[in-house]
Amino acid sequence: MALAIRNSSATAVFLAVLLSPLQPLRGQEKPAAKWPDERRIGPFICHADFNLNTCAGPLNELVELQRDVAQALELPHNVEPVHLFLFGTEQTYRDYIHEFFPNVPYRRALFIKERGPGMVFAYASKELDVDLRHESTHAILHAALPMVPLWLDEGLAEYFEVPAADRVYGNPHLPKLKWGMLLHNTVPLKRLESTGRIEDMGISQYRSSWAWVHFMLHGPPEAREELAHYLGDTANRTPPGLLSDRLAQRIPDLETKFSAHFSQWNR
Ligand SMILES: [Zn+2]
Repeated sequence: MALAIRNSSATAVFLAVLLSPLQPLRGQEKPAAKWPDERRIGPFICHADFNLNTCAGPLNELVELQRDVAQALELPHNVEPVHLFLFGTEQTYRDYIHEFFPNVPYRRALFIKERGPGMVFAYASKELDVDLRHESTHAILHAALPMVPLWLDEGLAEYFEVPAADRVYGNPHLPKLKWGMLLHNTVPLKRLESTGRIEDMGISQYRSSWAWVHFMLHGPPEAREELAHYLGDTANRTPPGLLSDRLAQRIPDLETKFSAHFSQWNR
């Protein structure tokens, strides 16, 4: 899940998070507390309340993730760091989010960005590696682009959240999407584009968003090219229009090509 915090106190919250994450600034007199483990891994500045050696594998993978996302989407090179806040237990994570982001609905992991660098929050669950890849994908996108439509943001995060070896053929969405297509039960791209609130993103919206990302990355070369041009316009702050319109212009029989892509897609 990705959230852009737009209220006026967000900067203050952000500073509080960075300055004294474990001891919220109640008294103000104490010097800033450090997290028990802090280290930098590529563009990710990690802060944790437990020893990060216990999840060194998934953390080191994030450097490859950053490279893969940037390459696949031809993103401009960016140097904006991303802060990663990791908690040893769900309860500590839950308390922390409740304390600093009381208006944010509870999710197992979060990406939050205001005007400063993006922030990823997660706890050491069995799904930590998936959560880190999903939320860090949001962070990588928002470090390079001034905006990303919600459906595309989530579709890309769903695409990159699986281990690299499973991205092309092994995403759990794939078999369910194929069934959904047989039953004409997918969400059209135009409708995905009109979804503006994270609360309106259900499993069907996530799956269909993932499917359009998969189609653009592994379907007709024109689709991938158009996605890169669309993101390039976004990066240059040229109004990019709707990706659905741009794809339809490049690929006249777009819907047929989209269905054919998945009916033929086997390992
Ligand atoms: Zn997400």
